[in-house]
Amino acid sequence: MISSSFLSYLRRPCILCVFLFNAVGFSDALSPSIHRSRVLSSSTLNAAGEANIKIYENGNDLDIVNNSINNTVFDDERMMSSLSAQAIDMDDMIGMKGVEPPPVSNERYRAITLHAVDKVAEKHPEIIQHLDDIRLSGLIFPFKASPYLVDELIDWSVGTDKVRDDPFYRLVFPTLEMLSDKHREKLIKAKDDGDPSVIMKVVGEIRGDLNPHPAGQKTLNAPKSKSQETQSSLTGVQHKYSETVLVFPAAAQTCHAYCTYCFRWAQFIGDDELRFAQKEADSLFDYLSEHDEVSDILMTGGDPMIMQTRSLRQYLEPLCDPNFLPHVRNIRIGTRTLTFWPQRFTTDKDADELITLMRRVREEGGRHLAIMAHLGHFRELSTKKVQHAIERIQKEAFATIRSQSPVMRGINDDATVWAKKWRKEVQMGIIPYYMFMARDTGAQHFFDVPLEKAQRIYSDAIRNCSGLIRTARGPSMSCTPGKIEVTGVEEILGQKVFVLRFLQCRNEDWIGRPFFAKYDPKAVWYDDLEPLIGMELPWDENGIPKPVIPRLN
Ligand code: SF4
Repeated sequence: MISSSFLSYLRRPCILCVFLFNAVGFSDALSPSIHRSRVLSSSTLNAAGEANIKIYENGNDLDIVNNSINNTVFDDERMMSSLSAQAIDMDDMIGMKGVEPPPVSNERYRAITLHAVDKVAEKHPEIIQHLDDIRLSGLIFPFKASPYLVDELIDWSVGTDKVRDDPFYRLVFPTLEMLSDKHREKLIKAKDDGDPSVIMKVVGEIRGDLNPHPAGQKTLNAPKSKSQETQSSLTGVQHKYSETVLVFPAAAQTCHAYCTYCFRWAQFIGDDELRFAQKEADSLFDYLSEHDEVSDILMTGGDPMIMQTRSLRQYLEPLCDPNFLPHVRNIRIGTRTLTFWPQRFTTDKDADELITLMRRVREEGGRHLAIMAHLGHFRELSTKKVQHAIERIQKEAFATIRSQSPVMRGINDDATVWAKKWRKEVQMGIIPYYMFMARDTGAQHFFDVPLEKAQRIYSDAIRNCSGLIRTARGPSMSCTPGKIEVTGVEEILGQKVFVLRFLQCRNEDWIGRPFFAKYDPKAVWYDDLEPLIGMELPWDENGIPKPVIPRLN
């Protein structure tokens, strides 16, 4: 817990007034005050662990600005929702009949950044007591919230103390409790000293200790093209499993809001060393033309749905031609926009173009288009706005929606929450897909749920649900060797063990084969697992799968 004396210290008038904010929106990034500012110092989070931060002189204040704003492609114009300007003959659109037209709205997306977090207090004074905590912890963890999430999903009525336990508050507002004692003390001391260069250094060191790039993504998942030219352009492509290629479009390297537990948080702190970003689609397509084994493209980020439709078009338009890369059958788009800004599919200026583009991939390209929706709690499905967005995706774009989410302490570590979520999803035509484990990065220790507890949550939830819900897999760890499901805890020859299996693996021979590990009630991640006496775990010390033992029969 954070001591009240520390919080009262933070509330004292500070000689060195430091406005700390990360990953500001485009409009803030270009605000006149920042343009007027003079850069006093800058740094990036490099191998030495320095932070990617610039310190600006701004009037009498010093602003520490996360440099990710310089790399974030975030078109505020797209957010100008002006449905009045849309003249669409709804009946002319295939599949539109019987679907209500999108509601007219003047809502405009504006990111709530750390710089402006106190504005939240104007509507929700329950946050005032927590602002200092948010500002300081927001130096380490990227912070951004969306007005929709803050105003429509967080239950502020529970009051100042309890609101921090609200799953959606916990989802976006960081706290110093997300840091280990050692890191928290170090950051507080740096803050006490008041020297911006020391704060920068400490922030960089702490971030460097938080395992910014888990599971060897940067090296082990690198694609290998025959062409040197293509290879050098594949700066935002990963190829871990033979049938699936991941692409991280440069314009998708942000989200409408940031989850406090995000395992891709390193992408939002603006360091090129840690960032995957594909600048154009052509080299991706060149790569795919060399790889007939690839049937699936997974567009991810950040969140690809933060992109304007015209940016998404460079990836999706060619796939509207069925003769183009015909071996690519499935397009998946990983997104949390349904929760953070469902208006993207309904009332944003280019929402209709987006829906039409998605439909063409299906109708003209003959491909399966799947929205891989990050949905972690049944309350996310409760608003009219999200319900309308889901309806448009299903009935106008003819895309499927699959749901996936990690199980996170204090957010959804409860079988009732998952059962209600999955039931509601199936009722709405969403296919339950995955329950994941908290990954070994960022604030894992704050959110993690032991493997045993997660497995119990999964089985308790699924046991009470219809068979249609049993498409959900998990709890699963996406780790260096592959995707490992915790299948159960059993007793073998008097010994309690974890039963596990690969749902995906770098070595496909392992997929579907069970294996065992010593039972450990504290284990939270695959590298906590230990082999049973006389047996081996199926990976080596680098996480690379060993050859499969020949079957006994
Ligand atoms: S939506 Fe996904 S990528 Fe974006 S912050 Fe949340 S977990 Fe991370």
